[in-house]
Formats: sequence, structure tokens, C-alpha cells
Amino acid sequence: MSQRLKLEIKAMNAIAGEDLVVLVSDKLIPAPAAEEWLGEGGRSLIARAAAAERFKGKALSGLTILAPEGADYERLILVGVGPEGERDKLDFALLGGAIAGRLGHGRSADIIAALPGGDVSAAEIAEIGLGLRLRCYAFNQYKTKSRDAEQSEAKTAILRVADSSAVKKALKAREAIAGGVELARDLVNEPPNVLYPEEFAERAARLEKLGVEVEILDEKQLKKIGMRALLGVGQGSRRESRVVVMRWNGAGKGEQPVAFIGKGVTFDTGGISIKPAGGMEDMKGDMAGAACVTGLMHALAARKAKVNAVGVIGLVENMPDGNAQRPGDIVTSLSGQTIEIINTDAEGRLVLADVLWYTQDRFKPLFMVNLATLTGAILVALAQENAGLFSNNDELAERLFVAGKATGETVWRMPLGAAYDKMIDSKFADMKNSAGRHGGSITAAQFLQRHVNDTPWAHLDIAGTGMGSLSTEINRSWGSGWGVRLLDRLVADHYEA
Ligand code: MN
Ligand code: ZN
Repeated sequence: MSQRLKLEIKAMNAIAGEDLVVLVSDKLIPAPAAEEWLGEGGRSLIARAAAAERFKGKALSGLTILAPEGADYERLILVGVGPEGERDKLDFALLGGAIAGRLGHGRSADIIAALPGGDVSAAEIAEIGLGLRLRCYAFNQYKTKSRDAEQSEAKTAILRVADSSAVKKALKAREAIAGGVELARDLVNEPPNVLYPEEFAERAARLEKLGVEVEILDEKQLKKIGMRALLGVGQGSRRESRVVVMRWNGAGKGEQPVAFIGKGVTFDTGGISIKPAGGMEDMKGDMAGAACVTGLMHALAARKAKVNAVGVIGLVENMPDGNAQRPGDIVTSLSGQTIEIINTDAEGRLVLADVLWYTQDRFKPLFMVNLATLTGAILVALAQENAGLFSNNDELAERLFVAGKATGETVWRMPLGAAYDKMIDSKFADMKNSAGRHGGSITAAQFLQRHVNDTPWAHLDIAGTGMGSLSTEINRSWGSGWGVRLLDRLVADHYEA
């Protein structure tokens, strides 16, 4: 990741940048605090330019105007915030992203953080800062021939605020979260020859700097524990499998932890049930769940969250070779239950089965949330707008739904039930790992549920949201880092002392 944004927080007593950013309502009225910097004729300049360009001050829309001669700035950038009466609908992170999209590379801009018709809180301005930063993320370290060098030059954003110490304080937690999202994006974007299980584990171990306890379990230890379902997936790869346990102890000793589990298939060929060639390169992102958990642990530790949290990720590479797992194989999972392999491409659930069982057994968590790019079928059901949510607990499901609405990382609850569960019964073993196309996301979730006891649990199927993601005001990256903000919010709203 390259840092393409220089963010400064300064008092509103001067402007120093080349460009001036002003927020305007649908009536094209700027905030009173901005008016003095616009200079004489500012309002009529805005009115004429807006009319010519049909700019209506719609939320997140923008217009760039060349400043008249003699102005203290070179360009005036207007960004709409919509009607004054609809403030509650305004997403300040997206607003920050929309502003960032209009800033010039290698240029500096004063952003007057004031709204027409109403105060803006330090927390809201901090969200703007978060949006600015997330929008400026770029993963370009493998591009040695940057065609236009200025594209890589940093943008300088000077947030002009009424109370800079309050904003700086509020921004601290947002920077921790941004760091977590960026880490998750980096991990997803990395090529699979660079990021394989051992390397992923090494990157997770870097969280020790933030005070996270990191434990790396190698194949010998995993064998001893009995994670045969997970090991079966990795056995066709030259790369060894790993399980990483990350612990952030931000609450009192003995406080029950919350737990997050991630699928980390660093590359998924499908194994012997090999995938078609077209688009297979995207399967480097089949570790987005593990990336999110790692990014979340970064965020929680960096902002010193008052919670005990455990992150456990299962890291394997699914390859076909002479030692690879076959369709028809029967493996015994850590739970003691036997699994008939129908399709070696339904490997994520085999990894998660062992990691879920291990986590609930060892840590007795308050709840478990797992994230996985688990099924293509979730894209058929929900497209890329929502992650699929499956849960055995209504309260946890509701909290995730609300946190999703608040962060824009939305989830939609899908059903679980006995009739679906029956679909994964096997002729030869306790269960089979694939039940065919119908209800493919649901039967995958049923499979996971067979490895969860009474612990409140939620499974997020992020195959549609974790990679190849929709372009938004705060994300232009292939690996979105989806879920870090959602789960950080879940923790902050309900589980911090
Ligand atoms: Mn697969
Ligand atoms: Zn997979």
C-alpha cells in the first residue's frame, strides 16, 4: 500500500492550499464559515458555475471551478451535501471519499469542514477524514512503469475545523480502523505466489507490535490437535498449512472473549475438482475472510479497544497434485464427525469446520463470527450489495444487521433449518461437503453449523463483497477490506467495557 494522502487538521483561521473545498446544500448555499474564504462574488460565482454545469448540490456530487483572478485559491471545489433537512441521511465517510475523489494529485486543498445550516460534530469530521484516507488507498507496488507519475503523487488535504483538538482526538480511532481496512485490502490484493499460508502467518505476526499475542500453529501441531479436515485441503500443495491465533486482551483478565474466524485459502484452484481457467486468478482473494479478521485485530489493538478478542484464521492452499485430496475421500474433522468429500472445490467449509470447533472449545467465546468467501451461490442470491448472514442467534444477527446499516457494510439474513440440514447427509459418512447447486450458500452454512454447539454464532458469506468489489466513494480497490468496519462497529456498540 502506498500512502497517497497527507491529512492535516488545522484551525479555520487561514487557508493555505492551492484549492478550496466548500460543502454546499441543494440550494447551493455554502456554510457561513466558508463564506469568508470564498471572497467577494463567491456566491454569484457558485450560482453561475452551477447553472452552467447543472450542478444541484446533490449529496456526494461535485463541481470544480477555476477561481477568478485575484482569489486566494486556484480552484474552488464544491461538494454537495443535499437538503438541509436530510442531514441524518448523510454518510460522512462517503462524503470524505467524494471529496478525496476531486482532489488533485500533488496538490493541496483546504477543506472547510462546515455545513450549511447546522453544526458538524468532531466525530462526523473524523468520519470525513476516514473517508478521505480510504478513498486514497492504492495497491500499486508491482507497477514499475507508472505511465503517469503524477498519479502516484500524494494529495494533501487540510481539514479546516472549529475545534482541532477534538477532531484530532476523534480521528485517532478512525486511523486505527483505516489501518485495519488497508491491511485487509493489502492481503487480499497480494498475488498468491507472494502470499501463501506461511507468509500470511508472518504478516499476522507483525500485529505483535500493537500488543496482539500471536500464535502460529504448524502442520505438526495441527496434526496433533486433529484438524484433519483442514489439513486435507492443503495436502495437495507444496506450501504448508497454518492456523494463526491472534489475541487482543483489552479488557479485564478472565473476561470472556469475542471470537472472529476467517477462511484463508491463499489460492483456490478447486483442487482435483478443478475450476475453469477463466477468472481463476481471482481465487487469490479466497482468503478475504482471514484478511478481514487480521485487519479487525489490527483495528481493535491500534485503538486499544476495551474488549478481549480472539481472531483465528485457517490458512491453506488448495492445489491438485499426486497427494491432493480426492472426491470420495472421507476425513474425520476435529469434532470427531466424518465428512465425505464430494467436491474438492467445496474446501472452505472443511477449513472452517475445524477452526470453528477449535475456537469454541479452547476459548469458550461469548460469540463467534466467521467470514468466508464461501460460495458463488451467494452472488446469485444477493449480488454484491450484501453479504449473506446465517446465524443461530437472533440477537447477534440483529446487531450485525444494525452495524451493517451504520457502516454501509450491509448483511442480509438467510435461512437455516432442518430441511436444509438434511441435504448434507452422506451415504457413507456423517455428512458430505457438497449438496449441489440448489441452496448452495445455505447448505454450506448448514455444514458449518454442524461444527458449532450452543455458542452464539454467525457466518458471513463474503464471496460477493470481499473481492472484485463494487466501486464506492471510499473503495476503489479490488480487495475491499470488507467487514473490518462492520465488526469493529459491532464490538464498539455492544462489547466494550
Ligand atoms: Mn473452492
Ligand atoms: Zn474457496
